[in-house]
Amino acid sequence: MKIITPETILSPTRQLSGMSIAFDTHIRAIGQLHELLEQFPEADFVEVPLHSLVMPGLINPHVHLEFSANKETLKYGSFMPWLNSVIENREDLIGGCDANCMSKACDEMLKNGITTFGAVSSYALDLEAAANAKQKVLFFNEVIGSQATMADTLYDDFMSRVEASLQVKREGFYPAIAIHSPYSVHPALIKRALKYATQHNMVTTAHYMESPAEQEWLASNSGEFKPFFTEFLKQDYAVNTSESFLSLFKDKPTLMTHVVQADHGELKQLAQDGHTVIHCPISNRLLGNGTIDLEKLDVNKVSWVMGTDGLSSNYTLDLIEEMKIALFMHANRDLTTLATELLTNATVNSAKALGMNTGEIAVGKEADLLIIDLETTPSEQLPVHLLLHGYNIQKIYINGNEVS
Ligand SMILES: [Zn+2]
Repeated sequence: MKIITPETILSPTRQLSGMSIAFDTHIRAIGQLHELLEQFPEADFVEVPLHSLVMPGLINPHVHLEFSANKETLKYGSFMPWLNSVIENREDLIGGCDANCMSKACDEMLKNGITTFGAVSSYALDLEAAANAKQKVLFFNEVIGSQATMADTLYDDFMSRVEASLQVKREGFYPAIAIHSPYSVHPALIKRALKYATQHNMVTTAHYMESPAEQEWLASNSGEFKPFFTEFLKQDYAVNTSESFLSLFKDKPTLMTHVVQADHGELKQLAQDGHTVIHCPISNRLLGNGTIDLEKLDVNKVSWVMGTDGLSSNYTLDLIEEMKIALFMHANRDLTTLATELLTNATVNSAKALGMNTGEIAVGKEADLLIIDLETTPSEQLPVHLLLHGYNIQKIYINGNEVS
């Protein structure tokens, strides 16, 4: 057992001072130091700086490790030119990032306080790096393919990757399933993958309503996606409508990434079926997809969390930076309220959506903790200042083990 007495605890919804935390793999008690010492007289003390803060480790549910080699290769500004540049440079990008390069991306996330991440894996080339990462990992094996004739082959390939991920036996590694998107996956494949996920109690995720091009293609089989599909896949209609796609997920709450272009009806459906939106503001900006309307999510009671997306559409894997950008992007929202909301969504709410017992400084939660040196006593606007000044992380614990 360890006991830590920071100057401040951010739970993340409450800011406490003068309290101690007793933890081993889990947080066992929170209270006055003398009370905890009575309960755990043998406990070791964790040394902390004078103005220390303890808060839960951050959760990044959406990253593409396999594309970590990208810096200036891909074309930013608009979705279709970006997608075409991904297809054009895929071999170089994938070949340009070996296990070492992907491990560096995991280490970068850890350094930035991310203690759990969700890796969307297209080819399972990131399996080794994800398996060896220090963090908790949801390994999202991705299914993709819109042509019915290819469905069996693609499903077999997908299943062999799922099985490989099931061979990884380490605490905190969870095989999971990603459906690429409504425009790129045939409904028969989606059904099979979701059935498997449900039977095996796996977490699911999908990209949904990311770009104006996607919205138009699903709604009316027209727009910028049309030449793309007719040229590459000899397909002149969308394999799913937005509605038919969502109907497949009715009984499987899923993390839906981006959702920038969804209308009120779609958002209402997301809320009704218990889905959670992953908001990736930097990716949305760089790919010209617009800004998600948080008021619209609120009105329709849609839960949302924060993600970085991959280095194929971001310059860093840093949720603090991501939240800071969101703080400026959603300028009509009250500053302190939004900062608190961002921190809550990047920790406890993300954990809830992923079905994990972490993301909160509370008794019974897994001890995934960040110890931060604030260098000064915090004000009641601590959430704002954490995002503005970045975190000066001194120590990181995952399941009570020091990992940095
Ligand atoms: Zn993505």
